[in-house]
Amino acid sequence: MQVVCLDLEGVLIPEIWIAFAQRTGIQAFTRTTRDEPDYNVLMRYRLDLLRQHGLKLKDIQDVIAGMAPMEGARDFLDDLRARFQVIILSDTFYEFADPMMRQLGRPTLFCHRLEIDAEGYVGDYKLRQPDQKRHAVNALKGLNFQVIAAGDSYNDTGMLQAADAGFFIHPPPGIVAQFPQFPVNSSYAELKASIDGAAERLRRDSAS
Ligand SMILES: [Mg+2]
Repeated sequence: MQVVCLDLEGVLIPEIWIAFAQRTGIQAFTRTTRDEPDYNVLMRYRLDLLRQHGLKLKDIQDVIAGMAPMEGARDFLDDLRARFQVIILSDTFYEFADPMMRQLGRPTLFCHRLEIDAEGYVGDYKLRQPDQKRHAVNALKGLNFQVIAAGDSYNDTGMLQAADAGFFIHPPPGIVAQFPQFPVNSSYAELKASIDGAAERLRRDSAS
């Protein structure tokens, strides 16, 4: 009874806002939680920027549809899903993620949602709940699952802490020193080996 929880952006697909900035040429979209730690301020800024440039949900989805998952992501995920229940825990939005999820074979995704106004602009966003990744892991443990989790950044650390085993995959520099308890993996092959090792260890521990 083991579930693997994976972050999406920076793990299986590129960062959506960064790719969006590159594809539209609008540099202001590269601003992230590292530049503006208040997520609500950052999202407001992004929504204002979208409107300033006349970009509707459809335009964003068209850009995202032209993006591809990271090389090897689909194979890594398919292999994992053949052996574990896998849930993607992400702070993106269903309306953005859809073109990517299609390319990933539609794994289960828990994330947030957008409110689209009558003209098709992104009017607002609704977080499913604050700190949802950590809550999801704790809820799964409450259902008697052992949870193995992997992510790449700060918004994953709650999930990694709550999990029975937590791993980083290609994290940005700086975060590793701050969270030395999470082993770092630099490729899907390494992460696969880490997950399999943890699964085996957890099975042994729960049998004894
Ligand atoms: Mg990420």
